[in-house]
Amino acid sequence: MSAVEASSGAGQVIAATRKILSAKAERFTESVIREMTRLAMQHNAVNLAQGFPDFPASAEVKEAARQAIADDINQYAITWGAKELRDAIARKFERTQGVRVDPEREITVCCGSTEAMMSTMMGIINPGDEVVIFEPHYENYGPDAILSGATPRFVQLRPPDWSFDRDELSRAFGPHTKAIIVNTPNNPTGKVFSREELEFIRDLCVRWNAFAVTDEIYEHIIYDGMQHISMASLDGMRDRTITINGMSKTYAVTGWRVGWAIAPPEVSTPIRKVHDFLTVGAAAPLQQAGAIALELPQSYYQKLAETYLVKRDRMLGILTKAGFRCFKPSGAYYIMTDISGFGFADDVSFARYLVEKIGVAVVPGSSFYDNPAMGAKQVRFTFCKKESTLAAAAAKLSNLCPG
Ligand code: GLN
Repeated sequence: MSAVEASSGAGQVIAATRKILSAKAERFTESVIREMTRLAMQHNAVNLAQGFPDFPASAEVKEAARQAIADDINQYAITWGAKELRDAIARKFERTQGVRVDPEREITVCCGSTEAMMSTMMGIINPGDEVVIFEPHYENYGPDAILSGATPRFVQLRPPDWSFDRDELSRAFGPHTKAIIVNTPNNPTGKVFSREELEFIRDLCVRWNAFAVTDEIYEHIIYDGMQHISMASLDGMRDRTITINGMSKTYAVTGWRVGWAIAPPEVSTPIRKVHDFLTVGAAAPLQQAGAIALELPQSYYQKLAETYLVKRDRMLGILTKAGFRCFKPSGAYYIMTDISGFGFADDVSFARYLVEKIGVAVVPGSSFYDNPAMGAKQVRFTFCKKESTLAAAAAKLSNLCPG
């Protein structure tokens, strides 16, 4: 008889089961972003919560995936990525950022940039290591830190321009700092880090011998003449940067789960090992399609940014009219808003009201902060949606009364 069978009563069975569950997993909640998508479906609401495009991917990229399956590319790729894709990633990084990397030793293709980030963290972190994280931050970074065993040190990005205090950032670094996570263009704020800001971060990384883990998944979604600068392109950062990127946002294929980590060889080695035992590899035919996608001409990226600019301005108009104070994003496809004008107790009750009564799903601001109170007056909208979706949201939000 097992210990669980031997115990009597439901409470004891639960207690016995709880004993063997992970304390790490207890420390974070389900993703609020993904939960909001489920609530949107349940209430038949317009989903402006989860950042996935609801319009088609390019015909060329879809055809490449179909062709790869027809060509019987149906078995495992090399665990750290199909050669064609790694070669294409290296060529594109050099073309766009002037950074030369060796596809044989410095690129690990993963199941989305989510896994690339997790494999990176697990590949570099030891007990006692600290990781500096700007907040508000993409919600995954919290669990990434917990699961890898890092202690997060949060540094505030402050509205309206989401700048950071240089002294506060300097104080967050110390002898235990293993890395800083930099997400530019930024989710959820839309901030695009300037060269001066990146250089300031660079100097701290050099001084404290820390890595920069940069999430650059929105690199091509950028407005108002802003420029995306890869941390790895800065003097002195080539060998202490791990660049995370992927196909999801650039090619509108978030469900394909193809991402990658670019890191110097000695850092790629542990990343590759962790990745191998986590997932073995990303879908082989989709990696093949990725090799085609990454060779698309410059005009593709120009059109992408132009299309999103129209959507951003449309959404800013809709939200301002509905009574939100908007923080205008310079990049990515989210708008953080201030909801003070509506008189709700907090962001979660407001988001619940929006999805249940108004019919629009958003992400409560608190899910981007370590301390929920910091986001209690904010919610995030995404606008990576087709015009008919944005129009439907506009109609529903017109029923919202500023309180
Ligand atoms: N990055 C997207 C967001 O922030 C989607 C996240 C996800 O669900 N993987 O909404």
